[in-house]
Amino acid sequence: MSDTEPTSPPDCYQGDPELLPVAEALRRIDAQASSISGDERVALRDALGRIAAQAIVSPMNVPGHTNSAMDGYAFAAADLPTENTCRLTVLGTAWAGRPFEGRVLPGSAVRVMTGAVMPPGTDTVIMNEQVEVQIGRQGDAIVIGQGHRVGQNVRQAGEDIAIGDRVMAAGKRIMPAELGLLGSLGIAEISVKRRLRVAFFSTGDELRSLGEALAPGDVYDSNRYTLYGMLTRLGVELIDMGVIRDEPDAVRDAFLEAARLGDAIISTGGASTGEADYIGETLARLGEVRFWRIAIRPGRPLAFGRVGGALFFGLPGNPVAVMVTFYQFVQPALMRMMGCDEAHGIPALRATCQSPLRKKPGRVEVYRAILSRDADGRPTVRSTGKPGSGLLHTMSDANCFIVLPQDGASVEPGAEVDVQPFFGLI
Ligand code: AMP
Ligand code: MG
Repeated sequence: MSDTEPTSPPDCYQGDPELLPVAEALRRIDAQASSISGDERVALRDALGRIAAQAIVSPMNVPGHTNSAMDGYAFAAADLPTENTCRLTVLGTAWAGRPFEGRVLPGSAVRVMTGAVMPPGTDTVIMNEQVEVQIGRQGDAIVIGQGHRVGQNVRQAGEDIAIGDRVMAAGKRIMPAELGLLGSLGIAEISVKRRLRVAFFSTGDELRSLGEALAPGDVYDSNRYTLYGMLTRLGVELIDMGVIRDEPDAVRDAFLEAARLGDAIISTGGASTGEADYIGETLARLGEVRFWRIAIRPGRPLAFGRVGGALFFGLPGNPVAVMVTFYQFVQPALMRMMGCDEAHGIPALRATCQSPLRKKPGRVEVYRAILSRDADGRPTVRSTGKPGSGLLHTMSDANCFIVLPQDGASVEPGAEVDVQPFFGLI
């Protein structure tokens, strides 16, 4: 926590009616989230989704040899006709992976397939479609016309990547393209950051785990399932601590255990001002935690701070608010902790909104919505309807968030809005 913020008592107990702007909450979280230390070496395939611990430098040229970019004939550019045509004798063939043995002297050519190493003595390729082939008893010949360039249709060794080029920075998340890239360089093993350990639990006396009977007023714990999904996608090591009862001792024990096991702790429920009392007291004793009322809906109450060595996020209990706050506030911080150096915010695009959206100035409002294309192919978006923050099926029906900025007013149909799509290349 910074010097300007007292560590205790938590913010909300000071009776501060001010809502914390989203950008300020992100800034404060960001200031506390730093990359964990610790690397491990893994086989290339196991690096998928992990974060590169070191920059990767190419051990070789790609392509390794100068080769033909076309099916055609390789010859020396010196043989290109300056006027009319010229005739070259065909000496043989070079295939990809089966080079032509021998030298190509002036006046001759070699038939080449795409990817074939350029035979010694050649530097230019003419496409099959652009030559006239003359079949002869002593062997074939080709006739070349005007309009060709020196070195055409040839890929030079090292043209894509040269030995010593940095092909990947440390902090890069390994995606399918990176697996292929490293594979193309013959790199079978790389150093990645160790997995971030995230301990999480739900709080609430009304929560039941799947398989248990529901008494009146009970609900099944869904937040641990959503968190399981979101955290698994992020590639962290999950420490699922189950449901914790609304009792000070149980909460304290859970936090101590979570701080012992995890680099980060996520709890859901009990973060709203009404019932946060004893959790607030417990946390104030254990670490540096404050309760924020963030200018965002859904997801206003959020607790944030440290317990032991772990960064702590206390999310609201409402299932949709959990997802919204996770994506907006927790995921960027976890990515930073994982050692990921890429942009951490969710990419947004603009789309025309079909639905009227009510919006109070002074807070960010996040709607669940469906993004599609209109008849002209332009992005258009409509709300999934019900605004309730407990209705997970509105998340399931949606394929994007509409994010209305803090200072904006209500939206009329036809207005442009910011959209964060759920889909992408995964
Ligand atoms: P709370 O923030 O604890 O006041 O919870 C707000 C609402 O979210 C209440 O209706 C809770 O029953 C519900 N809730 C809290 N935690 C969960 C959970 N893990 N799964 C499903 N609903 C929950
Ligand atoms: Mg509760």
